[in-house]
Amino acid sequence: MRIVKTPAKILAAIRKERRNGKKIGLVPTLGYLHAGHEALIKRASKDSDVVVLSSFVNPLQFRRKAYEAYPRDTERDLAVCKRLRVDYLFLPVSKVIYPDGFDTRVEVKDLAGRLEGASIRWHYKAVTTIVAKLFNMIEPDKAYFGKKDPHQLILIKRMVADLNFPIKIVAVPTRRAKDGVALSSRNSTLTLEERRALGVLPTALKKVEALIKCGRTDRSALRKILVSMLESEKLVTVDFTAVVDEATLLEDRVGRKTLIYAAVFIGGKRLTDNLVVKNP
Ligand code: AMP
Repeated sequence: MRIVKTPAKILAAIRKERRNGKKIGLVPTLGYLHAGHEALIKRASKDSDVVVLSSFVNPLQFRRKAYEAYPRDTERDLAVCKRLRVDYLFLPVSKVIYPDGFDTRVEVKDLAGRLEGASIRWHYKAVTTIVAKLFNMIEPDKAYFGKKDPHQLILIKRMVADLNFPIKIVAVPTRRAKDGVALSSRNSTLTLEERRALGVLPTALKKVEALIKCGRTDRSALRKILVSMLESEKLVTVDFTAVVDEATLLEDRVGRKTLIYAAVFIGGKRLTDNLVVKNP
């Protein structure tokens, strides 16, 4: 595995691989790798010849305190990448990504403001900006993203189509623990009791999924059921919930699939999860 720290070096190495006929797969991450990230790496290894994992805690997409508190463990990440035979670990520092004078943003306009985006447009603008930069720095054939973050996924697909990036976006199913909880770097910051309480999140999502499969279509009533199930767990404070059309993120649009989404606080930490269900 090669560890590369600058955009010029990674692009030169990847272009050489491509000249040798290799297909390139990119897995963008914030580091602190867990089994959810491993699912992305394994998928990339299956259908790309060369796997590049980028690990960069993007300062633009965090409030300052959250940026500083974000868990980091480069040594452990290195071991994970070696074990899974990642070919290139792209590990840039902030100054290299955002040199003095950096002043451009990539924004997906309407879609970014939907779901819970209205109050955190700046966050999604930062996500699409860094992903666009990574696409230009690495020029992958495919890029792998988790269904764990459905709004991010839909924005990146939109950006790729709108800006004509010649890149296929591959959506990888959410990897879960035995009790159904989606794996996340934040889970490691919970106490045992908080971690137990988090089990209510997948349980409530599954309950709403079952109701939709049985033919229930009243989304605002379904959302209320979701909220009351989540509130039945006393350590949980509900922050945001939605039952919306998966493609447009609108409640009143009925397409092929419905997205059931929830964000909660447990012990001051914000955790999100979602399910997508085909409309019967
Ligand atoms: P992050 O480092 O949290 O930005 O995550 C990097 C990528 O891993 C994103 O595309 C996430 O959607 C994906 N991811 C995070 N958690 C999981 C999970 N439990 N299962 C599958 N993919 C995940």
